[in-house]
Parts: sequence; structure tokens; C-alpha cells
Amino acid sequence: MPIDARRYPANWPEISREIRFNRANNRCEWCNAENHKPHPVTGSYVILTVAHLGVEKPDGSPGDKEDKMDCRPENLAALCQRCHLNYDRPENVAAAIRTKLAKVAADREKSGQLQLL
Ligand SMILES: [Zn+2]
Repeated sequence: MPIDARRYPANWPEISREIRFNRANNRCEWCNAENHKPHPVTGSYVILTVAHLGVEKPDGSPGDKEDKMDCRPENLAALCQRCHLNYDRPENVAAAIRTKLAKVAADREKSGQLQLL
């Protein structure tokens, strides 16, 4: 998924590289799949990305996966697509439902049907 660079710190490319290549040694930190190799489970070509986990903050306040400025090491993980998608699945499903509902509403409006949403 393309990232919106405005939501990330200016040095995000360096942070991401440090996590993927130095800390994670070019492997998924959760399933150990190696970057740029076939995934051991899915067989698809692995491209590591860095996930924001949304872990609790030191003051006890909840973390937020959407806060891309929160680059505490413990809030980041180098993940393969499989682990990243599984971790973000609830948000992705919710976004797909919102998109579908918006399309249904737009189609109804176009066809002159009563707006129920
Ligand atoms: Zn993985």
C-alpha cells in the first residue's frame, strides 16, 4: 500500500531501513521470512515493510497504529506482507466496508432512490 509521506517523519526512510536491515537483519520479525525470497508459507515474494504496532505509550496511554509519527523502536516491526496484512486486517476490512457503503450510497443517489444511509 503506498504511504502518505506527509503522515510520516521526514527521516522515515532512514528509520525504516534501520529497522528492516539492521535490527531485523532483513527478515520478518514475526515469522522470520527472508526479504526478497519466496515466503515459506505462501511462496509469494517477500518485501519487508515496517508496521506501526500501536503499542501502549510509556505514560500508559493507548498507542495508535495510525500515528505514523510514533517511531519508538518498540512501536515498529519489520514485517512480511502476510504478517502485516494479518495485523492490519480489522482496519482493512473496516475501510473496505466504508468504501462499499459509499459506493452503494452514490449509486442509489445516481439512480434517484431514497437515501437510507
Ligand atoms: Zn511475517
